[in-house]
Amino acid sequence: MSNTEHENQKSLPIGIKNLSKSYGDVYALEDVSLDIKAGEFITLLGPSGSGKTTLLMTIAGFVSPDQGSIYFGQQEMTMTPPHMRGLGMVFQNYAIFPHMDVRGNIAFGMRKSGLSKTELNRRIDETLELIKLQGYGKRSADELSGGQRQRVALARALIKQPKVLLLDEPSLGLAPMVVTEIFRTLRALRDDETTIFLVEQNARRALQVADRGYVLERGQITLEGTGQHLLDDEKIQQTYLGKRA
Ligand code: ADP
Ligand code: MG
Repeated sequence: MSNTEHENQKSLPIGIKNLSKSYGDVYALEDVSLDIKAGEFITLLGPSGSGKTTLLMTIAGFVSPDQGSIYFGQQEMTMTPPHMRGLGMVFQNYAIFPHMDVRGNIAFGMRKSGLSKTELNRRIDETLELIKLQGYGKRSADELSGGQRQRVALARALIKQPKVLLLDEPSLGLAPMVVTEIFRTLRALRDDETTIFLVEQNARRALQVADRGYVLERGQITLEGTGQHLLDDEKIQQTYLGKRA
């Protein structure tokens, strides 16, 4: 597939083949292989320290694997620098600029996009609508609630109209009501065409919204299936959904 063909697609499949990464004696990832279809919504579960962030950072290009390869569509991306991968990412410890207004925050990564001012403004409006913050554009980021800030962090990734969106625990540390807000936004995104890869501790909600899910333990994929299949799985119920055996 040529680059031009990639540009015409709204989402891309992700192929991960035999990925390994170690830090000293610790295997953060050990022979991980995943096949994600274009437009799929994937949830990744796993205990703390199991390698979830390392996997996302490797897909995004911020961590280079010791072994294995990453494909977006037919194109190998293993060595491609992050800014050339065309994906959107919301990091585990997101940061938005507190003294900048919401529009400025959302537009921050678009300075070199080559879009005209009119087109950029139109995109900002569209993105504000997507995260349900119409009317908040001129508000300073430090006047927002935690959930609103997290949605601005999401908007920063969405404005690039990425074909692949990676989210690392977007609801971490947020109050229950706010988590509901975040998942409402994620549900709306699922119906969009983007390929989404979500790392979440909130297993029930994350599996309910997902087409498919994986479990990562000690750097290895130990379970995979449809969202419903994983919700019904006994081990998942005990480990992640708080059910007694
Ligand atoms: P998770 O996101 O599932 O909590 P991580 O991917 O952050 O897990 O970490 C997986 C393992 O790799 C952990 O044991 C962690 O301590 C280790 N690790 C991650 N990043 C680094 C790093 N930059 N240097 C050394 N060890 C790391
Ligand atoms: Mg992590």
